[in-house]
Amino acid sequence: MLTHEKVNLFRLTEEAMIAFVQSLGAPAYRARQIMHWLYRKGAETIDVMTDLPRAFRSRLAENCVVALPEAVELRQSADGTRKFLFRLTDGVTIESVLIRDGSRLTACLSSQAGCGIGCPFCATALGGLERNLRTEEIVGQLVAMQRLTGERVTNVVMMGMGEPLANYRSVLGAIRLLNHPKACGIGQRHITVSTSGVVPGIRRLAMEGLQIGLAVSLHAPNDALRNQLVPLNRRYPIAPLLAACREYFAATGRRVTLEYVLIDGLNDTPELAEELGVLLRDMNCLVNLLPLNPVPGTGFRRPEPERIADFAAIVRARGVRVTLRREMGTDIDAACGQLRRVRRLQGVS
Ligand code: SF4
Repeated sequence: MLTHEKVNLFRLTEEAMIAFVQSLGAPAYRARQIMHWLYRKGAETIDVMTDLPRAFRSRLAENCVVALPEAVELRQSADGTRKFLFRLTDGVTIESVLIRDGSRLTACLSSQAGCGIGCPFCATALGGLERNLRTEEIVGQLVAMQRLTGERVTNVVMMGMGEPLANYRSVLGAIRLLNHPKACGIGQRHITVSTSGVVPGIRRLAMEGLQIGLAVSLHAPNDALRNQLVPLNRRYPIAPLLAACREYFAATGRRVTLEYVLIDGLNDTPELAEELGVLLRDMNCLVNLLPLNPVPGTGFRRPEPERIADFAAIVRARGVRVTLRREMGTDIDAACGQLRRVRRLQGVS
């Protein structure tokens, strides 16, 4: 027997929503009413959309649902960072993080359940890739966190679980909804996609006519070391990766951030700092140094603060812009590389 899957209304951009309501025989302005209910009035069901004619609501209910990821746990860090464990409709769980920094509230969203890239220092990599998230599951993380906290997100980083550019279509759909003024309304310059270096995805993203930020996980200045730390490097080595970053800058005017997780005794030596400085000295980029957030069982440690400062100084001496990321949420495993698919069903506290 054929069953038709109902459309989750959080999947639809304004254009798709207009086409959808018209396919149900309703005028285009009904799409704008529905979006207002979803993104401004916090509607949880179609029933509450009382300015839609009753017959149209019934038709909608036959064909669609209003479904958000269900929060099954909330943990709060001493620094105010909050980590949400969400359960999706098929029971898969993912994590998302809210980071407060003054007036800025940043949502760190997951793009996949798990991750198939396999970086050896990352908690997400431990369980492998379970599946790609759909557009509505990515946007839904943000909408759900806003509804649960009553706070408005100002910035988005796609740095949670997964490799966003390995789930390109859903991520792009989510970016359009995150940005759309009638949906989440977050400025493009306040949205950043983080990739482990999917070169064709970077090139494609550069051509989308967007102004979003791009962060690339570099973690090593040469291919031999990067092959170990980011296995995707065997497919897309450093030279074509940096060429794609240059293309991204040329097409968007947005300077690419190169993330470099510092791991004690592995990629934090003065020689490697010098090699990194030389590699990037002619490139308009920003290097963001992150001391490793150790994941139990991986055997990797973070360097001492003096070693991190020395590394930064050597790279800077080559004229490269360097920042040291302030750590948030490490006590609740909400920091970079610490997100997992763990099932804890105590309910939201
Ligand atoms: S660091 Fe990022 S790309 Fe690498 S395994 Fe973890 S989630 Fe995937």
